[in-house]
Amino acid sequence: MDFSSKLLEQAVNEMSQLPGIGKRTALRLVLHLLKQPESQTVALSKSLVDLKTEVKFCKNCHNISDTELCEICANPNRQSEIVCVVEDIRDVMAIENTSQYRGLYHVLGGKISPMDGIGPSQLTIRSLVEKAMAGKIEEIIFALSSTLEGDTTNFYIFKQLEGMEIKTSTIARGISVGDELEYADEVTLGRSITNRIPFENSMKS
Ligand SMILES: [Zn+2]
Repeated sequence: MDFSSKLLEQAVNEMSQLPGIGKRTALRLVLHLLKQPESQTVALSKSLVDLKTEVKFCKNCHNISDTELCEICANPNRQSEIVCVVEDIRDVMAIENTSQYRGLYHVLGGKISPMDGIGPSQLTIRSLVEKAMAGKIEEIIFALSSTLEGDTTNFYIFKQLEGMEIKTSTIARGISVGDELEYADEVTLGRSITNRIPFENSMKS
């Protein structure tokens, strides 16, 4: 792409770093911003900088939060002895949308994936096991997508919990293999949490 302006080229290059945004789309977005009032672009840039510099991760569940303890963990009406293990904040949002779950979450930050160089130490598994060892958890619900990586991660955590008196369950699979949680419809996802099954049973199938 030949640009008549270095500034334009620079903005397009930055924008096209985003996933799913090719050079053409980047150019369209940048030209759109150029036509808008300056205040809009300033607000957009500021919100991104603020997000990056000020965002916190809940010290209990590792969810994205504005405060040290996220709103879910800080809510005394939630059942803190039940913990639902999810990959990221999108899963938390999807499950919260169902209004069927009153426990807490534990956000792993990804799934074990040797292909992508992601091992257990890059995830927040250690902190989950520590909470379990501290006797704070009665039940752990695995709610990772049922991909090879999801299953590997579930099983790794399950083995770490061996010998502890913790009930482990997995969300019932109205959700078909490979489906990402965030795309499951609310009713199906809500039902699958309510009708969760013991983790051991899920391994036999
Ligand atoms: Zn939290």
